[in-house]
Amino acid sequence: MNKRIVLFDIDHTIFNTSAYAANIGKILSSFVEGDAREFEVGARVTWTQIHKQFGYFSPGVYISLLFDEFSFTRSEEELQKAIVDEKMLASCLYPEVKEAFITFSKHHEIEIGVFSSGDLEFQRQKVKAISRFLHPSHMHIFVKKTEELDSIFRQYDRANIYVVDDLLKVLHQVKIHDKSIQTVWMKRGKWLQTQEKPEGFMADFEVESVKEVVGIVAGEEN
Ligand SMILES: [Mg+2]
Repeated sequence: MNKRIVLFDIDHTIFNTSAYAANIGKILSSFVEGDAREFEVGARVTWTQIHKQFGYFSPGVYISLLFDEFSFTRSEEELQKAIVDEKMLASCLYPEVKEAFITFSKHHEIEIGVFSSGDLEFQRQKVKAISRFLHPSHMHIFVKKTEELDSIFRQYDRANIYVVDDLLKVLHQVKIHDKSIQTVWMKRGKWLQTQEKPEGFMADFEVESVKEVVGIVAGEEN
């Protein structure tokens, strides 16, 4: 049987980024001195500012900016560690992900990897708990992934690739790049309702969990 490769987006596809934001909000407000409400508002502004400025979230920059603005009962280093804590990050993976990846690993004709935008180190930390399932040659993390389509997909026989993402505009660009790539829309996460819907575009598959992706790629019953 032909080898198949499944590339997963991270944020809102396999990683619950909203849960992560809530977690670090709680962690940091427990260490802030002064008014917690005021901190919450300030932290949200800083979060948005970083996304605007870099296009993605950087834990190091975030803590450093918050440190300029607020006083904490912990050092900058301790706070940085706390917001990339391995166990906490693992708890933000959607609950079915690990089991679904175990199922994938039993199919030797299928390899899985990542196709993600963002800070390389931080994105790697998010998937550390499931990294043993991810094939090292299929780890594609870039500041802006849709600018790298050519360099990424050039190395593959594209007829056997599945790209899974919560954003239709990403899947649309992948499809424009090469229509033999199978697009899978993960219908969940923060942008489910508010995202831009490219006119006339429909993903090849629509799913609500990684378990369903196993069903599609491996032909297994859900
Ligand atoms: Mg995403």
